[in-house]
Order: sequence, then structure tokens, then C-alpha cells
Amino acid sequence: MLLDSKIAVISGAAGARGIGYATASLFAQQGAQVVILDLDKTASAAAAAALPGQGHLGLACDVTDAAACRDAAQAVLERYGRIDALVNNAGITQPVKTMEIDQASWDRIMDVNLRGVLLLSQAFIPQFRKQRAGSIACMSSVSAQRGGGIFGGPHYSAAKAGVLGLAKAMARELGPDNVRVNCVTPGLIETDITGGKLTEDMRADILKGIPLGRLGQARDVASAYLFLASDLSAYVTGGVIDVNGGMLIHG
Ligand code: NAD
Repeated sequence: MLLDSKIAVISGAAGARGIGYATASLFAQQGAQVVILDLDKTASAAAAAALPGQGHLGLACDVTDAAACRDAAQAVLERYGRIDALVNNAGITQPVKTMEIDQASWDRIMDVNLRGVLLLSQAFIPQFRKQRAGSIACMSSVSAQRGGGIFGGPHYSAAKAGVLGLAKAMARELGPDNVRVNCVTPGLIETDITGGKLTEDMRADILKGIPLGRLGQARDVASAYLFLASDLSAYVTGGVIDVNGGMLIHG
């Protein structure tokens, strides 16, 4: 198995239809012990209990709260003594236009999608350094690359573009410690993040721009995260993996 006896921590992973839970499930199938972090403790614990295999953990952790991130890291290290893979997956979106972005919305979108990546990474980096081994994978989006996805406003694009810069800079800094940092940039993935706003007409329209002819599934993104968490990607750092069905193909 690709993650035999590895310890993996995944943020934003309690929702059964989300990318985070699909990742947790795939990692558990591949032999990992998985820690699910999400806003609600009961939901996190229930999600962890539903994973295949034994020894998983579900904790409450708001990634915008530095103390909560540090507490989660402490709980993980007390229980398992190490961490092999961190997946910074938690995120929120808001489908608004530039002139509709007020300060509170800007702060909220930036806080969860961008600052949360920094805070949770900071909580685990001392341990990664001590081990001189580990993988951090961060959730960006096609929205960062093409100037808007479908459901995210400009502040979401900005936050996800910020994730690319943050992750690449962390990759450069942590490389000498043998800690790898990479990003995943999904296209449109069918999860609850669309908030039921994806109409059949919109879907048909979007599909015209996707060479593979289908929307993405949470499992498609989980597979990219699996590659990044495993030793298959031992020489990959500062990378960006598109999981978009060809919606955006770079020149
Ligand atoms: P989702 O809404 O199912 O998952 C997001 C999860 O993050 C939820 O479980 C939520 O409770 C959690 N969360 C929200 N705020 C949090 C916080 N402050 N601290 C901890 N957890 C928090 O949606 P999803 O589509 O599975 O999204 C997962 C990630 O993928 C997000 O970062 C999203 O921006 C990104 N993404 C999604 C798509 C897509 O099309 N679905 C495309 C590109 C990127």
C-alpha cells in the first residue's frame, strides 16, 4: 500500500461528499492513519469513525485560529508521535463580483483559504523539520490560474493564487529539511461547495469547455493528493498538479 503506517492530517475533511473526506478515505484504504480536522468536533469524529481501518482521529480545528491549529498539532503528536503528510484542504467560496466584495467577505475568504494554509502548516513544520521528512499538499484552484472558476469570486481567485505563492515559497524554504510542499489546482469538482447552484444549463455549458467531457469527482482530486503524500512523489516539490479534465491547458 502506498501509505502503509503513515500518519496523515487533512483539514476540511468531515463532509461526506467533499474532497477532504474522499482523500481521507483513499489514504485510509492505502494504509494511512488519518486525522480529520474540521469545524465541528462531532462531525470530525463521526467522519474519522466511518473510515476504513483502525486508529483514525477526528478533531475540531478552525484553520483560521492559530491556537486551534497548535492544539490540533499537539493532539496529533501526542497520539501518533509524528506526521508524514499534511493536506491543507479546508476552503470556502462565495460567488460574487468585484464590486460586491465587502471587507468582511474579503477577510473571511482570505482567512480560510490562505491564512489557514499558513497557520496549519506552521503548527506542523517544527515536527516535519525534526523528522527531516514529510509532505505538505495545499489546495489551490483553477480559479487562481484562469482568473475565476465558476463559483468563486475575485477574492477567492486571489486567495487561491496566494496559496500557490505561499506553497512555492515554503517548498523552497523547507526543501533542505527534506519537507516537500506542493499544490493541487482542481477544475469544477462535484461537491457541496456549489451550494446547489449548478443548474443543468450551466453544467451543459461548462462541459463544452472540458476536453474529458465530465465534471471532476472528489476522488479525482484525492488521487492527486495520494501521489503527493506518497513516496511516489519523493522528488516533487514546488509543483502544481492540475486536476481539471483539460479545462485549462497551459502553453
Ligand atoms: P466542501 O464545502 O465540501 O469542503 C470544505 C470543507 O472545509 C468543509 O468540510 C468545511 O466544513 C471545511 N471548512 C470550512 N471552513 C473551515 C475552517 N475555517 N476550518 C476548518 N475547516 C473548514 O467543498 P470541497 O469542494 O470539498 O472543497 C474542498 C477544497 O477544495 C476547498 O479548499 C475548495 O476551495 C477547493 N476547491 C474546490 C473545487 C470544487 O469545484 N469543488 C475546485 C477547486 C478547489
